[in-house]
Amino acid sequence: MDDCIFCKIIRKEIPSKLVYEDEKVLAFHDINPQAPVHVLIIPKEHIASLNDINEENAVFLAHIGRCISKIADKLGISETGYRVVVNCGKDGGQAVNHLHYHLLGGRSLSWPPG
Ligand code: 5GP
Ligand code: ZN
Repeated sequence: MDDCIFCKIIRKEIPSKLVYEDEKVLAFHDINPQAPVHVLIIPKEHIASLNDINEENAVFLAHIGRCISKIADKLGISETGYRVVVNCGKDGGQAVNHLHYHLLGGRSLSWPPG
């Protein structure tokens, strides 16, 4: 996707503070952090939202699932705990239409989120 901001980050056309990268996944610090640790984990294939997951691309989700604890460990929040959030669509508060997992931690997070 030419004009997708996260695809541009994947292609390194826009700089980001990288935390983790492999052949399927990229993780980088959010530009506007909502917690002491706020990292975005994205598939390297353009998937617009949770609504666009199918048999073919579900492999990216499974892979992200396996990466979360590794990334949390690297960020030092495995023991203290963390939250993973995926916003979908207008009511879900999704602003960037490239599927992304927010990994939040480093302080006690309130619940319910509101
Ligand atoms: P959403 O509201 O779509 O779930 O979250 C989008 C997130 O992307 C926001 O937390 C926002 O701060 C972050 N973001 C938007 N543009 C950029 C960018 O260019 N670089 C980084 N690192 N984060 C971004
Ligand atoms: Zn994209």
